[in-house]
Amino acid sequence: MRQLILHGQGATAWEDVPDPVLTHPAGALVRPIAVATCDLDVGVLRGRFPLEGPYPFGHEGVAQVVDVGDEVGTVAVGDLVVVPFQISCGACVPCRRGRTGNCASHPRMSTYGLGTMGGLAWGGFMADFVVVPHADAMLVPLPPGIDPIDVASASDNIPDGWRTVGPPLSDEPGAEVLVVGGDGGPNSIGLYAVGMAVALGAPRVVYLDHDPARLGIASAFGADVIDGSPPRKVGAFPITVDVSGTPEGLQCALNSTAFDGTCSSASVYLTDPTLPLFSMYSRCCTFRIGRAHVRPAIPLVLDLVGGGFDPALVTSAVVDWDDATSALADPPMKIVFSRPRAAPRPTAEPNRTVSSRRRPGAGRPR
Ligand SMILES: [Zn+2]
Ligand SMILES: [Zn+2]
Repeated sequence: MRQLILHGQGATAWEDVPDPVLTHPAGALVRPIAVATCDLDVGVLRGRFPLEGPYPFGHEGVAQVVDVGDEVGTVAVGDLVVVPFQISCGACVPCRRGRTGNCASHPRMSTYGLGTMGGLAWGGFMADFVVVPHADAMLVPLPPGIDPIDVASASDNIPDGWRTVGPPLSDEPGAEVLVVGGDGGPNSIGLYAVGMAVALGAPRVVYLDHDPARLGIASAFGADVIDGSPPRKVGAFPITVDVSGTPEGLQCALNSTAFDGTCSSASVYLTDPTLPLFSMYSRCCTFRIGRAHVRPAIPLVLDLVGGGFDPALVTSAVVDWDDATSALADPPMKIVFSRPRAAPRPTAEPNRTVSSRRRPGAGRPR
């Protein structure tokens, strides 16, 4: 099959690789049809984040199920599903507690499409087929009426934004939200956070950045925008979010966190910024940073898409699947690669008993 391989800054290439094989009865084989770039992908492609190629590319997307093992009960061939970027079994102690990014059944940080950091064996979503080892635990059926292109980032970046502004943070009555953006941070995550905070009913959402395009998206979501570099402080907000990727932006978010407020950072800092710890202590300020546990949040963000949150506002470009290499040479904030889904099957398949070592596409809809 064809798999897009990332080689380095701005460099990707389609390569022929062996077809993945469904070997476990709890697994599924899926065909991605709408795949988004993650903020981290864009960082790697622009040479800002040190993730060494070559590796199979793509870890956010909606796919069509093409084959399932005999133990799979929640999805069937032909279904459209959101595929979480993190591999999770659903049964271990961390998974049962919702910490699916730290599933104990696989090496820590097992993910699709993130090179040696995520484990190369899982492959990437820019491929003809992807194996999902725990279909019932991982796959989330796409609700009717939602366009796969709109929610291609529901695998990762949208839930990552959700954990910075969603419950329990949004349960605080009247909690206003500040999101601090910037060139070095996970820009789409911050903008998804803005859109979801508005849809969740925050009385005021403020987005600070200097980039006209990002300010325009935040404004379209209904946020008040502040154009400029992060000052020391912009107010006192119960919920603050740092997606700036800069020490100044992080300091601004922390200094702008109200008494008993919570600041979440979705930025990845490769060196340690200084934190205003005494001031945070005095204000009983909580600071949260870390990888998101995406699987439990995916149904919640899909609900919000039906409830006033339009993630398509964040998408910079929708690009044909076959044009991926040129589009990724100098990628904008968020690309969604799209290709047609297969036609529905004309008739139901008879029950099958095969449960191991099948080639992909056996029983594939035509
Ligand atoms: Zn990602
Ligand atoms: Zn697990």
